[in-house]
Amino acid sequence: MPTLFTKIINREIPAEIIYEDSHVVAFKDIQPQAPVHVLIVPRQEVVSIAELPEEGDHRHLLNAAKKIAEQLGLSSFRLVINTGPDAGQTVFHLHMHLLGGDQLGHFGVPGFGES
Ligand code: AMP
Repeated sequence: MPTLFTKIINREIPAEIIYEDSHVVAFKDIQPQAPVHVLIVPRQEVVSIAELPEEGDHRHLLNAAKKIAEQLGLSSFRLVINTGPDAGQTVFHLHMHLLGGDQLGHFGVPGFGES
C-alpha cells in the first residue's frame, strides 16, 4: 500500500511540488507552520530515521534542502525530521520539514527549562 507521500510523488494526489530530482520530491506543506514550509521526501519509502537503512544514501535530503533554500532565497531556515508519534510524526514516510521565511520561535517541550 503506497504511502500518502508516494501518492503525491506519483501525482495521484495533488500537491504544490517545488523541487524534484531522481532521489527526492519536495512540495508545500498543506498546513504551513511558517511562511515557507516545504516537505522534502525521499522517493524511497522509508518509514522514519529510526528505520533508515545504514547503506542508504540519504545525503540527497540535505543536498535538496540546500538547493531549495537557495531557490527560495532563504539564508536562514530550520530543518526538522519528526521521528515517531511522540515527536509529532504523523505520516510514516520519512520526510524533512524546511521552515523559514520569518523569525522562527525556539523548539522543544513547551515550558521545559523555564523556572
Ligand atoms: P509530520 O507530522 O512530521 O509527520 O509531518 C507530516 C506533514 O504532512 C504535516 O505537516 C502535514 O501538514 C503534512 N501533510 C499531510 N497531508 C498533506 C498533503 N496532502 N499535502 C501536503 N502536506 C501534507
